[in-house]
Amino acid sequence: MGIDLGTTYSAVAVVEATGVPRVVNNGEGSAITPSVVLFKNAKGKDEPVVGGAAKRQAGLRPDDVVQHVKRYMGDPSWRFDSSNDESYRPEEVSAIILRALVRAAEAELGETIDDVVITVPAYFDDSRRTATRQAGEIAGLNVLRVLNEPTAAALSYGLSSDDDGIVLVYDLGGGTFDVTILGIEDSRFEVLATDGDRNLGGLDWDNALMKLVVDELEATHGVTDFWDDVDAVALLREKTEQAKRALSAVETTSIQLSLDIGHFSVDVTREGFEAATKSLLRRTQELVEDTLDESGLDWDDIDSVLLVGGSTRMPAVSALLARLSGANPVEGVNPDEAVALGAAIQAGIETGGEGDLSDVVIEDVTSQALGTVAQDDDGVDRNWVVIERNTKVPATGEQILTTLSPRTELHVWVTQGDDPDIDFTTEIGHGVFPLEEEWPTGTDFRVVYHYDIDQTVTVEVFRLPEDLLVGVFEIDRVANLTEEAVEAAAAKVGAMGADEAAAPAESAPAAPSVPTKPSGLPTLPTAASQSTAPAQTSAPAPRPSDR
Ligand code: AMP
Repeated sequence: MGIDLGTTYSAVAVVEATGVPRVVNNGEGSAITPSVVLFKNAKGKDEPVVGGAAKRQAGLRPDDVVQHVKRYMGDPSWRFDSSNDESYRPEEVSAIILRALVRAAEAELGETIDDVVITVPAYFDDSRRTATRQAGEIAGLNVLRVLNEPTAAALSYGLSSDDDGIVLVYDLGGGTFDVTILGIEDSRFEVLATDGDRNLGGLDWDNALMKLVVDELEATHGVTDFWDDVDAVALLREKTEQAKRALSAVETTSIQLSLDIGHFSVDVTREGFEAATKSLLRRTQELVEDTLDESGLDWDDIDSVLLVGGSTRMPAVSALLARLSGANPVEGVNPDEAVALGAAIQAGIETGGEGDLSDVVIEDVTSQALGTVAQDDDGVDRNWVVIERNTKVPATGEQILTTLSPRTELHVWVTQGDDPDIDFTTEIGHGVFPLEEEWPTGTDFRVVYHYDIDQTVTVEVFRLPEDLLVGVFEIDRVANLTEEAVEAAAAKVGAMGADEAAAPAESAPAAPSVPTKPSGLPTLPTAASQSTAPAQTSAPAPRPSDR
């Protein structure tokens, strides 16, 4: 099964015996399920309710309802505390959603589902991808692959139409924005460039509309301190999202709010909404233009534009893309379903099963740069990119470094992100290479990274000028949770809502490695990076707390 695990809504699909994917409706008969969990208190135990029923309670019981958890995936410090004093990590909340999606699909299909492909925004970094995979494992699923959402959308589009060529996928969901440029030729899908903003989505359009409404309540109805009332804010959020959807179809609508202090009706117009959200749309435009630049292409080279994600239903989005590309976006792609359908196709490919999917080849690129830490000429630690962002995977890159002091061991810090400032990169690994004999100051060595299709990074170090292999280490995946913690979480989530005794206690998270940096880090004789993709800048990654 393919699962599009969205910030606000999720969808699932399977591949028929003919190789054609189809969306599986949930128990409410809907193709999309709100990614929302309500924790009901059942005799002192949490009983999760997922989907429409939970979303409908969001305004009434904001303290018991958790949503938008995708925004926190990979964040080791985020927790949702239920009124039963149970604490849930983002991976656990996502696992509860995944389990509910799978159970509903199993009921619909009358079959058991074990193997799944789950999609993620192309711009998710390693820790967020791993968190997603672990959420699947906690839900008791075998995660065949974590697939990029735009690639999934292009797969479903490419295989259902005969249109080969260069496709730009503009994916604006509930919480994230991605843009990807791919080449499609027969069954070959080659990603040329990808970028995005994991904190830009329909939710931000909701927030802007909420602010418009609250400004109006304050200006004309004399309402004060609205934002302090948690219940009123939750209610307004729900009403605003509905109004936003309505504004995709009509020019004006009104929001009715029944609060403790009275009933209010506020008119909103599409024009006012579009003016208030202009800067958000502009941010997506900048990312689209940057990605086009990175791919080395022009608008003339783009054969079709695919709009994916519920937020692309806003007329301003298709108008923007039509203006930029000079042609209307492709019709007939269901923005809610394309990603799940593509994920199902990938699941079909992975299991070598249904239909004739054996010819399909997907070539992806790195969505984040990989670098290493070394001193510059001024003795300042900085990040040196080894493999550029948007390099085709599998990828290889290298840096040549020099010891600044006599050394008996070498340390290699592997970073994610292309900012020279190490505070804006994320450390994903640290290798220590003991040396057989002491290296004098000024010894040159080569640090080589290999990045494979499953995103495993292998680091090799060679001493120069002989090019002798000093050592190899592999960074598997950056995980917040150890295997034991995943197992404990699986037991905890598995026991929920079942007639079992109390769930086992949560085990402690993996202790983050705290590298102690030796003095005399290697310095660089040359700043030239050896990987082939053009240099780009990207939004800084959050600083890890342990650096
Ligand atoms: P997704 O994560 O792709 O399911 O996208 C969900 C987002 O799409 C949410 O922010 C929804 O509010 C938004 N959305 C869905 N339908 C519409 C619509 N007709 N107009 C505007 N936004 C919509």
